[in-house]
Amino acid sequence: MNRPNSAKAFEEAKKVIPGGVNSPVRAFRAIGTHPVFVKEGHGSKFTDIDGKQYIDYVGSWGPLIHGHAHPEVIDAIRDYAGRGTSYGAPTELETEMAKMVIDILPSVEMVRFVSSGTEATMSALRLARGYTKRNKILKFEGCFHGHADSLLIKAGSGVATLGLPDSPGVPESIAAHTLTVPYNDQESLQLAFEKFGEDIAAVILEPVAGNMGLVTPKPGYLEFIRKITKEYGALLIFDEVMSGFRVHYRGAQALYNIDPDLTCLGKVIGGGLPVGAYAGKREIMENIAPAGSIYQAGTLSGNPLAMIAGYTTLKLLGQPGVFEELERQTIKLANGIKKNAEDLGIPHYSNQVGSMFCLYFNEHEVTDYQMATKSDTARFAEYYRYLLEEGVYIAPSQYESCFMSTVHTDEDIAKTIEATYNAMKKTIK
Ligand code: PMP
Repeated sequence: MNRPNSAKAFEEAKKVIPGGVNSPVRAFRAIGTHPVFVKEGHGSKFTDIDGKQYIDYVGSWGPLIHGHAHPEVIDAIRDYAGRGTSYGAPTELETEMAKMVIDILPSVEMVRFVSSGTEATMSALRLARGYTKRNKILKFEGCFHGHADSLLIKAGSGVATLGLPDSPGVPESIAAHTLTVPYNDQESLQLAFEKFGEDIAAVILEPVAGNMGLVTPKPGYLEFIRKITKEYGALLIFDEVMSGFRVHYRGAQALYNIDPDLTCLGKVIGGGLPVGAYAGKREIMENIAPAGSIYQAGTLSGNPLAMIAGYTTLKLLGQPGVFEELERQTIKLANGIKKNAEDLGIPHYSNQVGSMFCLYFNEHEVTDYQMATKSDTARFAEYYRYLLEEGVYIAPSQYESCFMSTVHTDEDIAKTIEATYNAMKKTIK
């Protein structure tokens, strides 16, 4: 590999950090090479510690919808940092940010900010269980909702990449309360409800699933989930940590016109700083302490730097035409990559929604985790290594989605289409 500094940095990191990384998805396990260590990022690109530049379609795994170090976001952070970084006391900014989220997301009436997506989903589950006085939750194979005990069952993302469907360290007694069914399969869901419906507190899902590649809900599927949850008195939790502000400015809930009870958020709402939120109907949210008795707290929750970074990010995204242009650019790139695979006769399945896209090396239509696993992951790894050489950085696993930003240029897109063509071509034996 011609990235000696990254290789060396990885060896150093492994001595003091398990696996050399602070989140498994960064380790490039599925790629067969060491990760790229980053020096700095600007706009649509970052530079590694060997001095090589990459067009970046990971964007910190989704948050950087306006690219790296966007001047307005950085100015806002700098301004607020000068006034102190955390108070552990309320600020008006938190209220402003909550109002903005409520304005944008159709189903949301109240918001509680936390510091990560994991905290958001974990807290939403506790709220759902406390509110319904039921124990079980139902999730879908291949959906990833962070690493809380109840949710690390048949999970996507790094769990799928590493082939660890059920993590050690999750007590059986906790796992027993989590039901899983395949995504996009009405019958399995119906059966699960017929059997356990009276004890299901909530159904949690990624309304567009971005942690097994990119899988969209079949027509009518989300409507069916909404209907059956209502029928049995279970809450419907949309985990929009990834899809929120990404598949549509107003989230998957607006794109598919579904009214979930609770919504989990993260990534884009922090503008690249650590944030999560859970949000939803007032009647349910008011059960959270101190308004109600279901406890959840956080020293850095509503952190002013994270709030202003998120606020500025959403404000920029909400300007007329910005999301539409972002989506147009994503379509252009996804179509270009797909055409490369077609022209080269490589079996593929391409998906794109809003600013998210994914190309599977898979001859089947991918509608669930089972189908995603039929992808040619060896070809993906090889393709990926060539792509790095071409200066293009996408998510380092077939079971992840890629993200466009508002600052990717036509030139970036043209270069990326050419790079993906070259990389794909080299995988043909
Ligand atoms: N939910 C979804 C849908 C996610 O994609 C992720 C992270 N990729 C999480 C939850 C967890 O968020 P975090 O990594 O901030 O804990």
